[in-house]
Amino acid sequence: MLLSRRSLLASASVVALAPAAWAELPVMRSRRVEPVPARYVRLKPSPFADAFEANRRYLLALDPERLLHNFYQSAGLPAPKPVYGGWEAMGIAGHSLGHWLTACALVVGNTGDREVAARLDHALAEMARIQAAHGDGYCGGTTVERDGRTVDGKVVFEEVRRGDIRTGGFDLNGGWVPLYTWHKVHAGLIDAHVLARNARAMPIMLGLAGYLAGVLEPLDDAQMQRVLHAEHGGLNETYAETYALTGDPRWLRMAEKIRHKAVLDPLAARQDRLAGLHANTQIPKVIGLARLHEVTGNPAHMVAPRFFHERVTQHHSYIIGGNSEREHFGQPDQLAGRITEATCEACNSYNMMKLTRHLYSWQPDARWFDFYEQVQLNHIMAHQRPDTGQFVYFMPLAVGARRVFSSPEDSFWCCVGSGMESHAKHADSIWWSDARTLYVNLFIPSELDWPERGLAVTLDTAMPLEGRATLTVKRAPRAAQALAIRLPGWAKAPVLTVNDVAARPVLRDGYAVLERRWRAGDVVKVTLPMAVASHPTPGDASMVAFTYGPLVLAADMGPADAQFEGVGPALVTASAATGALAPAGGAGQFRAVGALDEALTFKPFFSQYDRRAAVYFPTFTPAGWAGARAGYVQAQEEARTLARRTSDIIHLGEMQPERDHQFRSEHSEVVNWSGRSARRLRPGESMRMVLARRPGAAVLRVLVARGDADRKMGISVDGQPLGAGQQVKGGEGHFAAIDYPVSGNGAKPQAEVVVTALQDDAVLYEMRMMTASSPARDPAVQS
Ligand SMILES: [Zn+2]
Repeated sequence: MLLSRRSLLASASVVALAPAAWAELPVMRSRRVEPVPARYVRLKPSPFADAFEANRRYLLALDPERLLHNFYQSAGLPAPKPVYGGWEAMGIAGHSLGHWLTACALVVGNTGDREVAARLDHALAEMARIQAAHGDGYCGGTTVERDGRTVDGKVVFEEVRRGDIRTGGFDLNGGWVPLYTWHKVHAGLIDAHVLARNARAMPIMLGLAGYLAGVLEPLDDAQMQRVLHAEHGGLNETYAETYALTGDPRWLRMAEKIRHKAVLDPLAARQDRLAGLHANTQIPKVIGLARLHEVTGNPAHMVAPRFFHERVTQHHSYIIGGNSEREHFGQPDQLAGRITEATCEACNSYNMMKLTRHLYSWQPDARWFDFYEQVQLNHIMAHQRPDTGQFVYFMPLAVGARRVFSSPEDSFWCCVGSGMESHAKHADSIWWSDARTLYVNLFIPSELDWPERGLAVTLDTAMPLEGRATLTVKRAPRAAQALAIRLPGWAKAPVLTVNDVAARPVLRDGYAVLERRWRAGDVVKVTLPMAVASHPTPGDASMVAFTYGPLVLAADMGPADAQFEGVGPALVTASAATGALAPAGGAGQFRAVGALDEALTFKPFFSQYDRRAAVYFPTFTPAGWAGARAGYVQAQEEARTLARRTSDIIHLGEMQPERDHQFRSEHSEVVNWSGRSARRLRPGESMRMVLARRPGAAVLRVLVARGDADRKMGISVDGQPLGAGQQVKGGEGHFAAIDYPVSGNGAKPQAEVVVTALQDDAVLYEMRMMTASSPARDPAVQS
């Protein structure tokens, strides 16, 4: 529904329903700059506009009645369409709807798109109907298993209301992160109200806010902390936002009550205890705290968001700006050993960009946008295919890895949801302003036309492939106006001209500030020289990645649909690593010769949608390589052989791997040590899981702490007890690998593995089902 006089009146009547005793609306004391509303910004042709269009097509391809399938059923209404597949059919239904609502609101808020607005309006009308059928504000689609049957997940909320709270770390009373899903829907409704200005959204949103508040308000602090032990997205953020929109102190009390102390208290004390934590579970809590700071002005709430952002971006992030390996933070400054197939979950970057916008608004310094640009360009743009609009979950940075894209109707991973949002908002952070200054933060081709400020400016550029941009003033107010152009950290000697005359800008907080009375036709040209730079990897300075201007470069390891069987490339240079790369003609293209004399072609990483890539390179001096060559080749081949022998692997204590392997355990506990998650069994306790197995003799490899290598445990595969294990020579640092031969010939493709602790606690990090000997080549392309 587009903004009209009618919808404005409807909004006014909603506000009039509010209690009379509301406090004054909170003052956003801490925000010094605001993004220019996206409705005044149009993307011009560019890869960002292509991503936006592909995403818009996907949003329209989705049917809200299918996303609402479980919602209808929960309310006892006939569901008109079948449920989607993937995560939508796995208990978490609603998270995609929430992201979809926000994404549609972003599109409508940017372009006024009538088709998307109509689709959004229909979804909201149905939600209102569903909520009315419940009668208590509830409107949800999560489900849960009870006595072997799948039932409406509302039961979990009602149990929590009675103080019945159980969580093994990732679930709430057996439901898969219902509060995480709830947050997405709450946030989607807020965005439909604020960005799409749809009058239906606010009453549904307040109904939702009231229902959950009714569940959580009776809980004491200990009960609340138990609830918050389970992943809950940014519930504190949506309540802070609900308070900002209404001024009702009830929502502020909720936002403050939803404080997960185990994570936020150490951060507020400036302690990095992130190693081993599920990364994307934590980021939204910090965003919520940042929003709470903005709506209350409480300076105590600034500390954790700033500290967390600094730690994550400077000590836990890869060269593309993303963080996490298999969804978890590791030890700070130790990334070199964590360059795998499962690096950089997309949701984390989506959330870190959100957090960056808050911190920037408090302190408009260009360096915040150095990070934003890095992650938007090299991770977010890499995670969506511009042809199909489909998304990547992990952005694999392992040598020779390829991207695995979602399918339109059978994935619905978290990163599909956050991806729908990420690519609906490429216009929302380019231009920012305060009362006197217009900030240009991102070099994305766009037109700004802002009637209230009497300003119209176009930004033309072929960035990131070339380091030039042109700003043309189309309309300007009479009074002097400052134009602050971000000078990126990667540009060493920027040059500015105004109407082709060298400009002498004031340099302030990373910006070139030009203040004057602008006239229509004024042209500012910005030259930002791009050069190759090399970046040592935290944990191993001899491992380097390369950038060209803001672009991360990747060596092309061949097509994604062909097996990568080579040895990962290393580089030998007598001087700086950048000396290994020579221009190869095309924009952002370079060539190099690898240590084994192989020809390497480097291209921007983000657009390698159908290629296998290498991003990190071990580097050697010529003398160092002479000594290292044999060991390097052998280590690479051993790693490849291990990958070839592995039929399945479960990382214990991690949510997704455990779900994927039908993990079951009555009493085991998730523990973290040396930056890794594990499961601890006390004597007599057991756990079971299902691992894929190939025909022929097999070995089960179990990873334990090195000091635990002698502990005995009982392991059976398909009911057959395994004999004694043997420790594998070498191993990973603090850990020891124990191999247990598995009897039988693996007639079934899956094996049930049961582990029982005997006299001692058993603490297991991972279990890997392998063939007993190495196949000649990979039986199938697995990743
Ligand atoms: Zn995700």
